[in-house]
Formats: sequence, C-alpha cells, structure tokens
Amino acid sequence: MVAAMTAAARGGVTVRVPAKINLELIVGPRRADGYHDLSTVFHAVGLYDDITVTPASQWAVTLSGPYRHLVPETGDNLALKAARLLAQRAAAEAAADPEPAEEVEEPSRGPLRQVPSKPEEPQGIGPVHVHIAKEIPVAAGMAGGSADAAATLVACDALWQLNTDREVLDELAAELGSDVNFALTGGTAIGSGRGERVAPVLSRGRYHWVLAVAKEGLSTPAVFAECDRLRDDRGEHDIPDPQPSPDMMAALRGGDSHALGAALRNDLQEAALSLRPDLQEVLDAGLEYGALGGIVSGSGPTLAFLVDGPEGALDLAVALTASGVASDVKRAVGPAHGAHVLNAPAGT
Ligand code: ATP
Repeated sequence: MVAAMTAAARGGVTVRVPAKINLELIVGPRRADGYHDLSTVFHAVGLYDDITVTPASQWAVTLSGPYRHLVPETGDNLALKAARLLAQRAAAEAAADPEPAEEVEEPSRGPLRQVPSKPEEPQGIGPVHVHIAKEIPVAAGMAGGSADAAATLVACDALWQLNTDREVLDELAAELGSDVNFALTGGTAIGSGRGERVAPVLSRGRYHWVLAVAKEGLSTPAVFAECDRLRDDRGEHDIPDPQPSPDMMAALRGGDSHALGAALRNDLQEAALSLRPDLQEVLDAGLEYGALGGIVSGSGPTLAFLVDGPEGALDLAVALTASGVASDVKRAVGPAHGAHVLNAPAGT
C-alpha cells in the first residue's frame, strides 16, 4: 500500500492481481491450431503481484521480489506487451472515431475556422514504465505472467483514463494469453475454449490452501505435449469434449471443503508428474499430513493442498517445510478479487 501511495504521488497507478490455481482442469482433444479445448475451474488465491505504471519517456519494465531474476525485463515481458497493445487499440479507436473538430474564434481574422483534433496522438497515451513487484512464482502453473498482463491493462486504462469497455479489455486479454481473462475477473469461475472464455460459477465459502512451490518451473507447452504423448501411447484417440464435472459443481455450490478436496481433478497432473517424478513425494507427504485434497496446479509444478482452516494451513506448511520435501511453502486463501486498482490516478 505504501508503494501505491508513492506511485500516486509520482502520477502512477498501482494494480494488485492474484495468482490462480485450477480446481479442475479437464483437457479435451488437441485442436487444429495446436491448443486444446479445456474445461477448467479457475480459483484466484491471495498471493499477489503489484504492478505500477508511471508515465515515462520510453517503454520500460523493471521487477522486484524473490522471483525477479526469472522474468525478462525486455519487450518479451507480457506486462509490457499488454501496455503497448492497449495503447495501440486506443490510438486506433481514436483514429477511427475522431473528436469532432472544434470551432474557435480567431480575433485577428474575424471568421471562425476549423481546428482538427489529432487522432493519432490521443491525449495522455504514451510510453510507461511498468514496475512489477513479483510475489507469484514463475512458470509455476499459477499464471503469473497472465496476471501481470491483466493488471497492466487495468493500470494503463486507469492511468490514461480510457474507461475501456469490458468487452474490449476481454478481447485484448484473450489476444495476450489464455489465462489473462480470468485474472481480470478473479473469484472462482469456469474457463472454456483454451481457457479464455470465462463464465461465473455458483460458489460459496472461503478455502485455505498450502502451496508447495518447486525450485524449477515447468513449461506449459511441454506439459501439454507430454499429455498428448501419454494419450497416444495408450491409444486414447477418442477424447471427449471437456465438461465441468457434477461433483465439482456440487462441492462449490455447497461450500463444502471436504467435498471439494475429493473433487479436485487435473488432467495435466499425470504429464507434470511424468516430467517431474520428484513431485509425487511432495504430493504424498501433503496428503499424509492431513490435507483434504492435493493437486498439481495447472501445468505445474506447484502443488496446491486444500486444508480445513488457517490452523490446518499452518500445521501443514510447517510439516512440509520440516520434512524437507518442499523448500518454498506458501499459504493463501481463495477466492480473491481479480485485478484491482490500489490507488486512484491524480485527477480522477
Ligand atoms: P501459465 O499461465 O501457462 O500457467 P505459468 O504460470 O506456468 O504459465 P508464468 O509465471 O506465466 O508461468 O511464466 C511463463 C513464462 O513467461 C516464463 O518463462 C517467464 O519468463 C515468461 N514471462 C514473461 N513475462 C512475464 C511476467 N510478467 N511474469 C512472469 N513470467 C513472465
């Protein structure tokens, strides 16, 4: 919050965005474009990146926090891509729909003349410095890059006072990545398509999670490729269209953490464990120490354990750390709000 106040003083905007886990991830057949149709239940958890955008003379991105060395401080950074994409979109919209020319009186020449507006340079839109205070583990199946992209869209929209329609933000989010739309939304929601189509789900309750973060990340495309390989090896060619499972829907409707623990499902888990067999020991340990359920988060390698409250979370975190099977253990509560502004830009 102090950072947000400092950012406001410098004319910047700070947005907080949560990590996600997948309570259910059902992988359908591979599509012609290489993606897979998914049915997933996204769940935002209270582990956040804070993104601050400040007007600057050129586009730039910097990072702080424990995972900063794993993320590029270049144009490849998804947050910078998001800022530029929104700027382009706003400029294109301004060019397509220019402000009507103003009529002004010129005292020296008498008659009125037309002063055209400058649609190619919408007021206030220009390079920004994006700073990411990174607490979401990287390449961990928690959609940290997507979260940063979503937060940057929201931050630049506020900084440039664009008031972009939600439909347009969703369009840009889908262009940036499959998990960006959910990071805008937060809470608990169903994702379909390749994950970019997000719809609300009837869900009650707050859930306590213990997250075992691995030292080395896993590449999402590599995990999907391994999933395809394992299916091919088994001769599984008739993969049904993915649908949310009735057990998961019932558990969420009832706000029942025991039922939720039993309903956790991830079709990528086998592939993640095949690429990283060492994770099985951590998964077994979490369940042995009393978790209500445990699952690989998304494409992994983070493991998410559901527990029955804050004390259970502390006990499990201590047990996992003390046993030495997991080096980086975090606790988080879900659902959490999607990308939201922490400070108002000056002048709004
Ligand atoms: P997914 O959304 O596919 O589950 P993930 O959560 O496993 O992804 P990310 O943390 O998003 O993984 O990182 C994936 C890759 O994206 C990393 O190699 C990282 O260097 C790159 N990347 C680019 N920009 C960012 C960013 N702002 N934050 C994190 N990673 C980024």
